Amino acid sequence: MKFYTVLANFDMASSSEREVKTFLKQENANKFAEEKWKEFLDCIPRGGALDEEFSDYKEQDELLYFYGTSEDGENFATISVFEDTFADEEQEKKENDFVYLCNECDELYEDETEVCDRCPSESIRVVSRGDMGMF
Ligand SMILES: [Zn+2]
Repeated sequence: MKFYTVLANFDMASSSEREVKTFLKQENANKFAEEKWKEFLDCIPRGGALDEEFSDYKEQDELLYFYGTSEDGENFATISVFEDTFADEEQEKKENDFVYLCNECDELYEDETEVCDRCPSESIRVVSRGDMGMF
């Protein structure tokens, strides 16, 4: 499962602030990034005037990236949206990749079990879905 992280780094003349927020939906992450960008523009002097040479705006694979330097060169902001997946997700998937089969009657169980409800045998074998041709 994908998720979207927004990193907003404000290095202002008066203070520094760093904010990290994670979203399930890309549109919400982009929206938050835009809000933070607007917040930066509202904070800097001369009505949000930027030093264009040291400011940047990019949209790559629908992920927003802002880099801003105020015209007076004293306020900076970096706001970026990243797409990511959970580091332990693959591991979790692998663990769910098995089914449980009764050795007596071949009843199939999706969840781990030690006894068969059908026959009732206590002889259960673990088989990977790949080996069974099911994915
Ligand atoms: Zn059985």
